[in-house]
Amino acid sequence: MSSLAGAGAFAVEEIPRGAIVHQFKGRVVDEDELRESYSDLFRSWIVQLSEDRFLVPEDRWNDRGAINHSCDSNLVMLDSLTLVARQRICAGDEVTVDYSLFHGEPGRLLDAVRCKCGSIFCREQVDGSDWRRTELRERYGVASFSPFLQRRIAAASISPSSGM
Ligand SMILES: [Zn+2]
Repeated sequence: MSSLAGAGAFAVEEIPRGAIVHQFKGRVVDEDELRESYSDLFRSWIVQLSEDRFLVPEDRWNDRGAINHSCDSNLVMLDSLTLVARQRICAGDEVTVDYSLFHGEPGRLLDAVRCKCGSIFCREQVDGSDWRRTELRERYGVASFSPFLQRRIAAASISPSSGM
C-alpha cells in the first residue's frame, strides 16, 4: 500500500538521478473519442500527449502504472511518455509524479479527494492549469514538463515588452 493514497509504486532498488523509471502505455485517442468513450475514466488515469491527443489505459494497472501524484514528485517527464528520476531515489521509497507535468486541460485532476501528499509544497487541489504556476517551472525546470506544455510555456513567456 502507498503511503499517499490507494495503490502506489515503490522503488525496489536504488534509482540514480536521471534514470528512466516508467513509460506510459495505452491507446491514443483524440478529444472527441475521449469525451465519447472515456468520460467515466478518472482524469488522473489519462495522460495528455499533445493539445489533441490523449493516452487512455487499455490495461489500467499495467499501462498507466500505479504511480501516485505528489506536489513535489521524485519523477518528472523526459518526453510525453517517459518518466525519469528527478533525484536519487532510495530502495523502498514511493515513486511519484506531479500530474501537472503532463496535464494541460483545466479541471481538477484528483477526483473526490483533495491532495494529501504531505509535501510542504502541497497545492491541496491539483488542476490541469497548474502548468501556469511559475513556482513549478522554477522547482522542476521547464524541461521536466511534457513537450506540449513546454511549448505552451514558451509561447506564454513571449513578452512584447521584454526588449529582447
Ligand atoms: Zn499535494
